[in-house]
Formats: sequence, structure tokens, C-alpha cells
Amino acid sequence: MAVIVNKEECIGCSACISACPFGAMVMEADKACITDACTVCGACVDTCPVNAITKESEQAAVKIDKAEYKDVWVFIEQIDGQVKNVSHELLGEGRKLADAMGEQLAGVIIGDEVEALSKEVFASGADKVYLVEASELKNYSTDGYTTVFAGLINTYKPSVILIGATNDGRDLGPRVACRVGTGLTADCTNLGIDEQTGLVAWTRPAFGGNIMATILCPEHRPQMGTVRPKVFKRPEQDFSKSGEIIRVASKVKGQGIRTRLLELVKVCTTSCNLEEAEIIVSGGRGMGKPENFRLIEELADVLGGVVGASRAVVDAGWKPHYHQVGQTGKTVGPKVYFACGISGAIQHVAGMSSSDIIIAINKDADAPIFKVADYGIIGDVAEVLPALIEEFKKAKAC
Ligand code: FAD
Ligand code: SF4
Ligand code: SF4
Repeated sequence: MAVIVNKEECIGCSACISACPFGAMVMEADKACITDACTVCGACVDTCPVNAITKESEQAAVKIDKAEYKDVWVFIEQIDGQVKNVSHELLGEGRKLADAMGEQLAGVIIGDEVEALSKEVFASGADKVYLVEASELKNYSTDGYTTVFAGLINTYKPSVILIGATNDGRDLGPRVACRVGTGLTADCTNLGIDEQTGLVAWTRPAFGGNIMATILCPEHRPQMGTVRPKVFKRPEQDFSKSGEIIRVASKVKGQGIRTRLLELVKVCTTSCNLEEAEIIVSGGRGMGKPENFRLIEELADVLGGVVGASRAVVDAGWKPHYHQVGQTGKTVGPKVYFACGISGAIQHVAGMSSSDIIIAINKDADAPIFKVADYGIIGDVAEVLPALIEEFKKAKAC
């Protein structure tokens, strides 16, 4: 998407110059011109007295030829030279969509010296990789990655794009969708093909998780969505597979990126990497007070797991937000999930129900958490947790 000045209509009144919050509009030969600093915010459009400024997407929406768009793309998120798990999960799901649509699956890798990651992407099922490498793209930036991704879409015209609903993915997805003039379904929990239309059916919780809404994107392309980590299983990798690498030169210039990464501060190490954890011990308001969380930490420690929390605990300031599991926290899918003193509100369950085994400890036999639990212990966490810790310690010592 872009903002365009129709030079023939422009009467040179300069009203748009002061309306632009980014200083992206300049006058040249008595006509308004838009520079690279334009963020497509649209603030100038309504200020023009002769309607000389338009957003390109409004025009593109009318002209779009959907038949030109094909293939399923997955944004490959990487950090420290490692492909994030969610990208593998989406390659597995993207493979199913591509096969159902009779199209190809591609991974989009953006970064600096990241070509080696292609092997991983092919092993997880991709037929192709679009590779854009430049020193300016070493670290994620909204401006740089949006420009690159939108440029790839405009050139190669994919039909479907899947992006992980991570911090970066949630930043990039809507931005790119807006730039290319399409919609985006955020935080999907299921994907399929709508039988009547052949479109991707994007399913996500709505109205506080009380209903599941299925959304189609019939008029615009590409069809885009973000999907939370751990919603889908990571596919088995086959390293005998390879594919085509399409190298694309980056057009991003340093000055086009308005943010600078000054320092990377790791506030959270493996001890709170909930999305990748195999065992999670979570505590809720039923733990009584923050000091009692030492029992949660001790059990997590004995089992080699990590600590989770309900929102009630996070809101009370007992634990930082990055420990929160649920609709407004992390979606997790460990092998074992302990819910200790957690009632099992729908918003909490939305983030942990895909765990392989759920063990609930609650003193209320009617607590909703027992409806999703595989094993339930009715009792006081102050008594049950020390007993469990003791038994697991003994078992480990054997
Ligand atoms: P409570 O509901 O107060 O439950 C405490 C439980 O502990 C009770 O079942 C009680 O029987 C038990 N208990 C008490 N004492 C003991 C004891 N000594 N031993 C054993 N059991 C005991 N919540 C989330 O967790 N994650 C989210 O992401 C999230 N997002 C939300 C988004 C929205 C839009 C909204 C409206 C709410 C959201 N919530 C979320 C809040 C959610 O609705 C619940 O309020 C919250 O999960 C309750 O937390 P809890 O289970 O720790 O506390
Ligand atoms: Fe400036 Fe926004 Fe208009 Fe671009 S769209 S020229 S950033 S006001
Ligand atoms: Fe031209 Fe419209 Fe800008 Fe005036 S407000 S300079 S007419 S584009």
C-alpha cells in the first residue's frame, strides 16, 4: 500500500506539508511529493482540498486479480541463528494448506547471513525459500522487515501468509497487511480450507473466548493470519529434502529504519521460556501469597520445568507478565502442565488446553479446572505441593 499524489490535480496549496507528522511530504516545482519517510499513515489524505492524495490500496482493491496470487508462505522468525519453533509449526500446517490448494509452500527468511537456515526450512516441508540478506536486517525492525516483506509480496504475489503470533510477528503481520492492502486474522487457533469457497478458514476465539469465529478473506490477497506458538505440532523434519532458494536484493537503506537497537537485555532466560517448555508448573491466586510461590519454583526445579502463572497472580504483582499463561498471556503446549490453585477460567484454559497431560491441584472439587485436567488432586496446595516435591525428589534419587 502506498499514498499517491496525483500531480495533475495538485494545486500546490501546501496544506499536506504541515499535516504530515513524519515530514514525508515536500514541495517540488509547486507540486506535493512524497518521500521515502512516508509511513502510509494516511493523515494527509483528508487535508487535500482537491482530493489529489489517495491511498493506493483503495485503488488496488478494485483492480486485484486473485488468479495472480498463488502459494503459501511462512515467515521464518529467527533469533541468534536459530529458527523459532513456531515457524516450524507453521511450515507443518502450511504444508497441509498448500497440498490441499495444489500449490507450493515457501519460507521467507529475512536477516543477515542466514542462508544456512534454508536447510531447516526445507527439512520442515518447504519447496522454496525467499531469502533477503543485508546487514541492516540483522535484527528485527518494523520498518526494515515491513519494507522487505511488502516488496516480496508485491513482486511474487503469494495467496496465503502465515506468521507466528510472537512479539515480532504481531508487530510485523498487521503492518505488512496494511501496506499491501489486505486483511489479517490475528491469533488463530485453527486453520482449514472452507469447502464452499476454497478460501483459507481462519479460526480464532472471539468475545473473550466464549465463541470460536471462523474468518474468510474473500476480496483481498494475500490471505494473512498470525498463529500462536504451540497451537500446532512441529512436523518431523526430513533433512534429505531440499528446494529452490530465491535470493532477493534488499532495497532497505539504513535511514529508512527509524529505530536503532542499542542493547539487547535478556530479562528472561530458559527459566521462563514457557512456549518451548516441556514441563510447566503454574500457580494461581490459590497459592495465597507471593512467598508461597517458592513451592511452585521448587517443584518446577525438581522436574526441570519452568514457572507459569495465572493472570490473577500477574495482576497482583506476584509474578511478571512474561510468566502469564492464557488468552492475554502465552499459549503453551508442554508435555505436563501443573495448575496449582488455579480455578480454570476460560481465558486461562485457552492458553494451556493443548498440553499433553494436565494435573490440577485445587481445594474446591467443583473448580472448572478439573473439567480439562487428566489428573486431579483435591486438596490444599500448602500440603499437596511439599508432598509432591518430596516424592519427586525421592524418585529422582533412585
Ligand atoms: P481464582 O479464579 O481466584 O482461582 C483461585 C483458585 O484457587 C480457586 O479455584 C480456589 O478454589 C483455589 N484455591 C484457593 N486456595 C487454595 C488452596 N489453599 N489450595 C488449593 N486451591 C486453592 N486469566 C489467565 O490466567 N490468563 C489470561 O491470559 C487471562 N486473560 C484474560 C483476558 C480477559 C479479556 C479477561 C476478562 C480475563 C482474563 N483472565 C486471564 C482472567 C481470568 O478470567 C481469571 O480471572 C483468572 O484466570 C483467575 O486466576 P486464578 O485461577 O489464579 O484465580
Ligand atoms: Fe505523511 Fe502519512 Fe501522508 Fe505519508 S501518508 S505523506 S506519512 S501524512
Ligand atoms: Fe497538492 Fe493537495 Fe498537498 Fe495541496 S494538499 S499541495 S493540492 S496534494
